[in-house]
Amino acid sequence: MPNPPGLVLALESVTKSFDGFKAINDLNFYLDHGEMRAVIGPNGAGKSTFMDIVTGRTRPDVGTVTYYPDHAREIDLTTMREYEINKLGIGRKFQTPAVYEKLSIWHNLLISLNRPRDLWSTLTYRVTEEDKDRIEEILKTVSLATVRHDQAGALSHGKKQWLEIGMLLAQEPKLLLVDEPAAGMSDAETERTAELLLSLKGKHSIVVIEHDMEFIRRLGQKVTVLVQGHVMKEGTIDEVSEDEEVRSVYLGRKREKKVAA
Ligand code: ADP
Ligand code: MG
Repeated sequence: MPNPPGLVLALESVTKSFDGFKAINDLNFYLDHGEMRAVIGPNGAGKSTFMDIVTGRTRPDVGTVTYYPDHAREIDLTTMREYEINKLGIGRKFQTPAVYEKLSIWHNLLISLNRPRDLWSTLTYRVTEEDKDRIEEILKTVSLATVRHDQAGALSHGKKQWLEIGMLLAQEPKLLLVDEPAAGMSDAETERTAELLLSLKGKHSIVVIEHDMEFIRRLGQKVTVLVQGHVMKEGTIDEVSEDEEVRSVYLGRKREKKVAA
């Protein structure tokens, strides 16, 4: 499929087994430039593995993973290393935030800019006006402008997630993969996170994995339901939540939770 118009990412017939267990099973997934997609599914459905495959952390057993950074280029991601894929403009936020705890929020963002890579050269690097402007812009986007001098380690879990999204934005990725950004957040933080991601829509192509249905509803984007490593259903949040098969998976999960509680 040479450079299909609009497409930024395509996974076709992708399968990945771990010790004979198919974490990803014949997965087909297509994302357009500027699109935001929500991916939902029960625990163990293969959502994080899907992101591992796109970012080169895990190699698929079979299938194709193609990235179309622009209309002229088509890149097979299955042969590339993690840092190479990252350099091509694919950024990922993991479930657990990873920030430099001892440094200020401002410095965390400085380090993440596409300038010097290691900590030492960052400390000796002369910050340009352009860098400062970019950091200001990101601080506003992620609602951390007023606490910029605070130590990152002192932030609440929710605000750490925002900082990490900010650090990702500093790399100016074309495609953003965000794994469960609202996990462990307060209601107010969850709401703000949805707004934050929506404000990025169009500037970046975005895939968001999330459990929280309210959050997904607030995003108001096309939803992909992943079950046992395969797409069970795609559509609006109303379409997928009315689907019998999807309901049985989610109701089943709720019942398990109640039994466990
Ligand atoms: P989700 O993010 O949807 O909860 P995951 O993608 O994390 O699901 O996991 C899907 C399945 O694949 C799980 O059964 C998990 O234990 C397994 N899995 C994921 N990564 C690995 C790995 N590196 N080695 C072995 N098993 C893995
Ligand atoms: Mg996961």
